[in-house]
Amino acid sequence: MATSKNPLTLLIAAPRGFCAGVDRAITIVELALKRFGPPVYVRHEIVHNKFVVDSLKAKGAIFVTELDQVPDGVPVVFSAHGVPKTVPAMAEARGLNYLDATCPLVSKVHRQAERLVENGRHILFVGHAGHPEVIGTFGQVPEGRMTLIETAADAEAVAVADPDNIAFLTQTTLSVDDTAEIISILQRRFPSIKSPRGEDICYATSNRQQAVKDIARRCDAVLVIGAPNSSNSVRLVEVAEREGVRARLVGRASDIDIGWLDGVSTLGITAGASAPEILVREVVERLAGHFDVREEPVEGVEERMVFKLPRSLEAAA
Ligand code: SF4
Repeated sequence: MATSKNPLTLLIAAPRGFCAGVDRAITIVELALKRFGPPVYVRHEIVHNKFVVDSLKAKGAIFVTELDQVPDGVPVVFSAHGVPKTVPAMAEARGLNYLDATCPLVSKVHRQAERLVENGRHILFVGHAGHPEVIGTFGQVPEGRMTLIETAADAEAVAVADPDNIAFLTQTTLSVDDTAEIISILQRRFPSIKSPRGEDICYATSNRQQAVKDIARRCDAVLVIGAPNSSNSVRLVEVAEREGVRARLVGRASDIDIGWLDGVSTLGITAGASAPEILVREVVERLAGHFDVREEPVEGVEERMVFKLPRSLEAAA
C-alpha cells in the first residue's frame, strides 16, 4: 500500500555556498596538481569543508598542519584563511615552491594591519580566538601591537595606552550584527579610533547572512550546510536563530535528523561559503526521500566577484 509523504516547501537561500575566495583557493590546488603533478602539499584545510578536502586528497593533495611536514622539493599551497608572515619566510628559507591561496579580501586586511602599525597605531582586532584567519592576521605585525576583541564585554573592558592612536580591524567572516554592536562600543569609548577603509566583513559573508535573514522569516526551521569550524557557516545558524527560527548546522545530507523536521512545513536551506552546491542538492534529494518536496524560487543579490589566480598558474588554467 502506497503511503503519502507530508508536503515540505523548501526555500533555498540565494546567494549561498562558494564565494570567490574559496573558488580561487580550490582552483589553485587543482591547477597546482595539473601543473606539477601529485603530490601537492596543502598547509591546513584549504577551506573548511571535509567534502572539498577529501575530493582534493583523492586527486593527490596532502594536507598538513605545519610546514615542517612538507618534504623538500614539492609544491605547497597556503590556505584561503591566510598565514602569518613567518610561514612564507620559512618556505623561502627552505627553497620551497609555495603558492599562496589566501583570499585577496583577507590579504587586504593584512596590508591594512601592516600600514596601521607602521603609522604607530595599536590595533583592536575583532575576531574569534584560534581561527586561522585571526592567527594569520596577528602574524602580520610584531607581537603586542594588536589586541583581540571577541565580544561586546571585551570591547567595554579593553584598556589601551594611547586612546588617540588606535584603530580597529575585523575578521572577514563575522556576524554583521554582533560586529556592529562591538564597533559602536569601541567608537563610543574611543571617539578618535580609526576605522578600516571600507568593510572588513566580506561581501560573501554579508550577502549570505542577509539571504538567510530573508528566508528565515518565512520558515519553520533552517538547515545550514557547512562545517563546525567554518566561521561563516556557524554565523548563518546564529543569524537564523535570531530571526526566531530553529536552525541546525549539517555537514551533509546523511547528518540530517529527519525527526527534527517533525511539524516543519517550510524549511530554509543555505550553505556556508566553503560548502559546494553538490551538498545542497544532496540534501534536497535526501529530503525528497521522506517528504513531498517543492522548491520555491528565492531571489537574491547576484554575485560577480572573481579573483585573479597567481601568475605562476595562469598557464595551467
Ligand atoms: Fe574571501 Fe569572504 Fe570567501 Fe573568506 S568568505 S574566502 S574572505 S570571499
